[in-house]
Amino acid sequence: MAIKTKTKHINVYHEEVDKFNELAHKWWDETSEFKPLHDINPLRLDFIHEKVNLKNKKVLDVGCGGGILSESMASLGAKVTGIDMGDKVIRIAELHALQSKLNIDYQCTSLEEVALKHESIFDVITCMEMLEHVPEPKKIVSLCAKLLKPGGTLFFSTINRNLKAYVFAVIGAEYILHLLPRGTHDYEKFIKPSELIGWCREEGLNIKTLKGMTYNPITQIYKLGKDSSVNYLVEVSKDH
Ligand code: SAH
Repeated sequence: MAIKTKTKHINVYHEEVDKFNELAHKWWDETSEFKPLHDINPLRLDFIHEKVNLKNKKVLDVGCGGGILSESMASLGAKVTGIDMGDKVIRIAELHALQSKLNIDYQCTSLEEVALKHESIFDVITCMEMLEHVPEPKKIVSLCAKLLKPGGTLFFSTINRNLKAYVFAVIGAEYILHLLPRGTHDYEKFIKPSELIGWCREEGLNIKTLKGMTYNPITQIYKLGKDSSVNYLVEVSKDH
């Protein structure tokens, strides 16, 4: 479906968004392809909430998908806007928020569109598991920096690029454990922490925390820790 937009150069792979749209109806099924997102959500929510009290904070969730993180942040009192380029994905997010009786402003739009209209308006911006699905992740970092209020906090999570990440995140998760559909991740789009940190610094953002997230296939438990060789999260802040 064509997305109506005024912005000419949208930083998106439409075939990537199509993949998420096709699976959108399963987003809240915790046994589906989205199981890993459900499993890691408590960890990333704790990580965020440990750094900022979300109550009454104006939050933008970029590439929010069906709203797993958006809903959990709204439950903690955040005023959440969730954006995603997938129209079906956003519809599922809206329906689920109704069921959950949560007031979340979901919009099928691009970050470019939001950044055309606004500047320095969000206390917190989250962009989880999304940077590795766009053509120019550096631009996403730059637009997030623009939309963040001075003193605000920005959270990213993505996948590192090295042999271990390839073995765990592609071969392991997609081909051996079948945690994700084949083709979910493209190794070349993975991002080294040094690259993400460099893009943040170029925007004048301060790097506060880098945390790794590991998965033990035997116990099936995810944990936050020092090992950022596969999945990792970063917290960055903007000066007052
Ligand atoms: N952040 C959510 C969903 C991650 S899946 C979570 O972690 O729970 C990645 C999401 O990014 C998908 O919903 C996909 O539709 C969306 N996406 C991909 N490219 C995008 C773009 N350019 N702009 C906005 N959303 C995008």
